[in-house]
Amino acid sequence: MSMCRKVVKQSQTEAIAAKLATLLKPGDVVCLSGDLGAGKTTFTKALGKAMGIRENITSPTFNLVQEYEGDMPLYHFDVYRLLKPSEFRDLGAEEYFSGAGVCVIEWANLVKEYLPERHLWIEIKWLDARRREICITPSETFGNALVKELGIT
Ligand code: ADP
Ligand code: MG
Repeated sequence: MSMCRKVVKQSQTEAIAAKLATLLKPGDVVCLSGDLGAGKTTFTKALGKAMGIRENITSPTFNLVQEYEGDMPLYHFDVYRLLKPSEFRDLGAEEYFSGAGVCVIEWANLVKEYLPERHLWIEIKWLDARRREICITPSETFGNALVKELGIT
């Protein structure tokens, strides 16, 4: 089951992320994919804020992963600069997946072979300067309950 919604402004992208934050549990892995400027970091910032993170969330540049303390930890990955996908595995991604927090992975499409089977896939498509299409697809083992509850369509 895939749920898509066209958003016409940034605040709607942020509202979806904020609602998602209320539904996520420790160990959940959120995979973000979409071109540069699609809104992956924008989405992550709003998600983190709604998770009670006070720190400003920026794209992890030097580190591939940045940890934030909120109501539960947020492990924010950006794998755009990886030279090869296996670096993602080598940095110990598995331990984050089974950690006490939520993982968000920007550019998850680049490390597909190293993602856990149980994940939420969020694709953000650029339509024009303001509009995006956001599609949310849970993996089979993730199940449809969260996406139904999110009710973005
Ligand atoms: P990415 O992390 O995918 O490269 P960013 O979140 O850094 O993208 O950048 C997205 C840019 O698009 C931001 O400057 C944001 O203000 C802008 N933007 C405009 N409209 C939207 C929208 N509807 N949803 C998300 N971002 C939007
Ligand atoms: Mg980004």
